[in-house]
Amino acid sequence: MQIQKIEITHNKPLYAFNKANTQTLPLAQNYGNAPSSLYRANLFVVKNNKLSFGQNEKPSQETLNYIELIRKNHAEMGIKSINLRDFDLDRIQDICAGIDVFKDLDAKDLNFLTHNIEEIMLSRGCSHQCVHCGADSSKKITTMNWNNYEDLVNGIAVLKERLGFNPFNTGGNTSIFPFHDAEPMMFISKDNNGNKYNIYDAAKLFYEKTGTKFNITTAGWHHPLSQKAAENFVQDPTCIESISISIHPFHRYYVNYLKNLKQNNPEQANKWKEKYINMMSNVIETTADLGLKIDNYVIDLQCLDKDAELSDYYIKNGFKKTDFDENASRKLLEEIFSRLKRKDIKLSDFSNDINKPGKYGTLFLRKIFNKSGRAGNLIKEERSRPSVFESSNTIIGPAGEIFVNSEEAGNVKLNLSRYHKKLNFKHPTTIKS
Ligand code: SF4
Repeated sequence: MQIQKIEITHNKPLYAFNKANTQTLPLAQNYGNAPSSLYRANLFVVKNNKLSFGQNEKPSQETLNYIELIRKNHAEMGIKSINLRDFDLDRIQDICAGIDVFKDLDAKDLNFLTHNIEEIMLSRGCSHQCVHCGADSSKKITTMNWNNYEDLVNGIAVLKERLGFNPFNTGGNTSIFPFHDAEPMMFISKDNNGNKYNIYDAAKLFYEKTGTKFNITTAGWHHPLSQKAAENFVQDPTCIESISISIHPFHRYYVNYLKNLKQNNPEQANKWKEKYINMMSNVIETTADLGLKIDNYVIDLQCLDKDAELSDYYIKNGFKKTDFDENASRKLLEEIFSRLKRKDIKLSDFSNDINKPGKYGTLFLRKIFNKSGRAGNLIKEERSRPSVFESSNTIIGPAGEIFVNSEEAGNVKLNLSRYHKKLNFKHPTTIKS
């Protein structure tokens, strides 16, 4: 490993090398326990810290011997779980050597990235455009190039081989969310030859190479490649850990139904409602045979909390709280189930009680009361609640960005800071509106 250039551009570094590249400031050793304020932007200040391992280089024999030693110690002591924090990171600085996609990361960057990783954003932006979107998703869709994705997955596989464990499986997690502010079932990526890949292709590759499964949350899909992905998952569910199906009156199709009703346009209104009901019936009929653990198949029914008030905009346009409340949501759910062509799937097969799972899975009622993200347009007042820092996780973005997302209690919106380094993605990211 050679350091070609180090330039520290700020005098309050969270993470900085000295000239010999052997020391870090104390906080860098344990990012996971650092207070939330340290995750904020502008604290990651080392720039142009160019580490160059060269294409064919491998970690030094000392590094490999040290890894072997720590693994042996763990085995002798009967400790099953192992992760990067069990190592003196200074002694495995060159762990990413020769892995092109991680070329700019050393062991401490990797530890930071993987310490609390929960999501890889295969795409950003969502065509559903629900009026209540906690993630505040953009209309513009940005998708990870398939060749970049392959490089990332292969890079993780090489790290897994070097370390003897997958550093991306933090805290014993063996699953990851492939999205945050997007509809994962609508992920469609292309490689440089124009071949298309869907979310099943992505999950299968990830599982085969790294042993980690995908958690999917879906609000429905309307693309044949998404349907094919869902059918592929049913045939081969090994690469999927869980699925959560979001049903709620906030979806754009359903809101268009409401809008047209208010505007005395029942024919058009019904077309939108049919569109929503057909889409969600298809989701349930297609996924019911996934054969996942009962706890891992969830219908996430959402509604407006009784204390939440609609914003002036919605009231002015004739909407009422009752359009989005628990009754409205339950009615919608019942209507979807009453329209299933498959008569073997009944609403009663989904238990409301997680202690008594139903035949297919669990029905989970979520009452929305906060106005995080785009929900701020829909809901007037935020119920007062303590703004307690809850957790912080890292996310890989579609262009190889490394983000830190700080979540507050009960608030799922993105609060992203950028880490000072990113993955080395060589191919252009796909963007479409
Ligand atoms: S709530 Fe989910 S499905 Fe709806 S717009 Fe946001 S990201 Fe998309």
